[in-house]
Amino acid sequence: MDAERARAALKDLGQPGYRWEQVRAAVYAQAASSYDEISVLPAEVRRALGERAPILSLSRRRVSVSGDGRAHKALLDLRDGKTIETVLLRPSPTRWTACVSTQVGCAVACSFCATGLLGLKRSLTAEEIADQALFWRQYMRAEALEGRLDNVVYMGMGEPFACYDAVAESLRALLDQKRLGLGARHVSVSTSGVAPKIVQFGRDFPQVNLALSLHAADDDLRTRLVPMNKAYPLAKLAEALKIYLRETNRKVFFEYILLRGENDRDEDAAALARWLSGLGPAALLHVNLIVFNQTDTAHSPTAETDARRFQEKIMAAGFKATIRQNLGRDIDGACGQLAGREETR
Ligand code: SF4
Repeated sequence: MDAERARAALKDLGQPGYRWEQVRAAVYAQAASSYDEISVLPAEVRRALGERAPILSLSRRRVSVSGDGRAHKALLDLRDGKTIETVLLRPSPTRWTACVSTQVGCAVACSFCATGLLGLKRSLTAEEIADQALFWRQYMRAEALEGRLDNVVYMGMGEPFACYDAVAESLRALLDQKRLGLGARHVSVSTSGVAPKIVQFGRDFPQVNLALSLHAADDDLRTRLVPMNKAYPLAKLAEALKIYLRETNRKVFFEYILLRGENDRDEDAAALARWLSGLGPAALLHVNLIVFNQTDTAHSPTAETDARRFQEKIMAAGFKATIRQNLGRDIDGACGQLAGREETR
């Protein structure tokens, strides 16, 4: 929802100031999906608002639900006819996490990622980004899903720091207690490594979590996997992260997709531990190992025993390392699988 547009429309319609409070409470606190549900508004105001300031900037084309019911993936239509995907995950019985997209496609072209295969079509607006969380709140209400949507991760389609201003504005909508009202520590933004924006992000949003899609601690290998590394190689990333850690004293999460025979060997674990040890206190560095989800790429997933061995090596070096649960694989809704098109298999 574009709150400014809705307020301006109400003003234009000659409505008193308290009308916005009624709309705001219905849309954000009660997840109303249509102005018709806001019965305290006069009928002509409901109709005019629907035309001038629609609640959502996107609409549902299809939702797929994983077999275990813990992952829901939506294909959404944008007003210009483009599509994006967004995912709702239930990592624990009462807590839900929305994984939002920031771009249609992505220019970074990571070699293991379905989104990267599309190229970049365009960046999303702040409204389109924040509306994905609002969409899921409405969906949860309509489907009577128990629990709360209280986490949002910017880990869907796109590189968030390639459209920093829109991402920053969407974060303000998410964190505003009068709008989506999320706690800053329940929101995470993941970048493939736009070094200058890491520093800026730490200054603008010191309480929001930062995740870095690292995937390799060797420049040649990382450039192959994450071409962004050419512009911002590991030394530049390290410099930015040192500033971030010094200024925020917040934990950084390192995403590391394990690819068999490519970045999952003992020497890769040793290189990762070495690179991390130059950044800052080990207590602030957390490695998230991710089991690869087969996309239309040439990579293969690491065997579970090898993933455990890799994890142990990182932990033996003094760092926290976890293997991330992979929700939504059966609906192509897991990490690296979003493609925003009708056919994703
Ligand atoms: S992993 Fe992220 S940054 Fe890389 S191509 Fe996919 S969407 Fe873009």
